[in-house]
Amino acid sequence: MKTAEIANRYLDFFRSKDHEIVPSASLVSDDPSIMFTIAGMVPFIPYLTGVVPAPYKAAADLQKCIRTNDIEEVGKTARHGTFFQMMGNWSFGDYFKEGAISYAWELLTSSEADGGLGFDEKDLWVTVYEDDDEAEQLWRSVAGLPANRIQRLGREDNYWTTGQPGPAGPCSEIYFDRGPKYGQDGGPAVDDNRFLEIWNLVFMQYAIDNVRGKTEFDIVGELPQKNIDTGMGLERVAFLKQGVENMYETDQVRPVLDRAVELSGRTYGKNHEDDVRFRVIADHVRSSLMLLSDGVTPSNEGRGYILRRLMRRTVRSMRLLGVEEATFPELFAASRDAMKAGYPELETDWQRLSSYAFAEEETFLRTLTAGSTILDTAVEKTKTAGSDKLAGDQAFLLHDTYGFPIDLTLEIAEEAGLGVDRDGFDSLMKAQRERAKEDARSRKRQIADLSVYREFRGAGETSFLGYDALQTETRVL
Ligand code: ATP
Ligand code: MG
Ligand code: MG
Ligand code: MG
Repeated sequence: MKTAEIANRYLDFFRSKDHEIVPSASLVSDDPSIMFTIAGMVPFIPYLTGVVPAPYKAAADLQKCIRTNDIEEVGKTARHGTFFQMMGNWSFGDYFKEGAISYAWELLTSSEADGGLGFDEKDLWVTVYEDDDEAEQLWRSVAGLPANRIQRLGREDNYWTTGQPGPAGPCSEIYFDRGPKYGQDGGPAVDDNRFLEIWNLVFMQYAIDNVRGKTEFDIVGELPQKNIDTGMGLERVAFLKQGVENMYETDQVRPVLDRAVELSGRTYGKNHEDDVRFRVIADHVRSSLMLLSDGVTPSNEGRGYILRRLMRRTVRSMRLLGVEEATFPELFAASRDAMKAGYPELETDWQRLSSYAFAEEETFLRTLTAGSTILDTAVEKTKTAGSDKLAGDQAFLLHDTYGFPIDLTLEIAEEAGLGVDRDGFDSLMKAQRERAKEDARSRKRQIADLSVYREFRGAGETSFLGYDALQTETRVL
């Protein structure tokens, strides 16, 4: 079953249950305090908190999401993308716990011939919040789930809040058992690789107050209007339905991975480290493309910096796979072709998107080329001197003069069997930051001092040197 077809089945199912189908919001939220849309819930926050009355009783959507906090998991677990799509259904004071549970169960377990997703009931497990007897009871009566496939978890896992006083409530999550090949028995409470989380149902029913932390708050009453918020990961369902090992091997992502494999001349599935890199590339190219498409452009701060980081990580991963030439024209085109059916703007806006991506790659490749020779020489020298650590001042020089990210220095050094004097590097960085601060302070003084004379000299004649030299940028890569 293709990814797009799963999404269509989901939306058709909820349309048939009188849900309004709402288009995806942008990855860039209207709310400036939110970096990206991290869940289907984000665009519905005003309705869920009651700030704005919802224009419909029930809705369903397919929402584009970016989660940068999952970046370290990408390619290592089977299930974490920096970009993914979340299917969601919503009730604003309409149906509640029983409705949400019975809809989810019906869609998951109805046969494919009947328009369902055709999961075998025996493979499904659920978790409920430890005090939510009602949810457990419903899973048993509505879905007929046996007690041993319902597990109770605490607030850490199964309680939703906004982190603020206001609406909150218990969750119930649905998991798929991938079988003993993927880990140990004992359900999702024991093993989250074998038992794959696919769908989170949130029952917003309580008001909380006195919020002291993620799990520390007081439940102070029932909400006058109870809402449902659910989220099911499209890529996760797709990889299960397509019988592949992980979300990077699904029809919307795999073509990029394959292209990277071809370009590298290596094989996928032979070496674990290479495989992780191929998956990181496939994920990051797609995320970058989708971010560009929603108007983010590479820069050194905020959203643009995240985009830059994703693209640089892709370049670095390709180099670690032995490819030093530009590959974005091929990789981004592969991703566009795999995604354009659902997102036609990727094709119509291609000229603009691709020119940002290709320029970014060219610039970063030049940086890498400039630094590589210096780094190679430094590695040689270190070895000749019989040391196993690259000197901190070498790493600093690479960073400072060639914009060479420390992570990359660490990785290349490691591949050459060397460490890096990280303490030495860090103290040079610290000293540089202090110098920059001191310079900024004296520049201020200078401006203040000169302003004293301005009335005698006429405004606008003074120009200060050194601004360019002082521009420091944070580099994580
Ligand atoms: P996990 O525990 O696996 O990290 P989560 O509990 O953080 O998932 P939720 O916040 O409950 O995920 O999001 C709802 C659903 O969205 C999940 O059940 C999953 O199907 C999907 N999802 C969440 N994060 C990702 C991701 N990084 N990549 C792909 N799908 C995701
Ligand atoms: Mg998570
Ligand atoms: Mg989870
Ligand atoms: Mg969850």
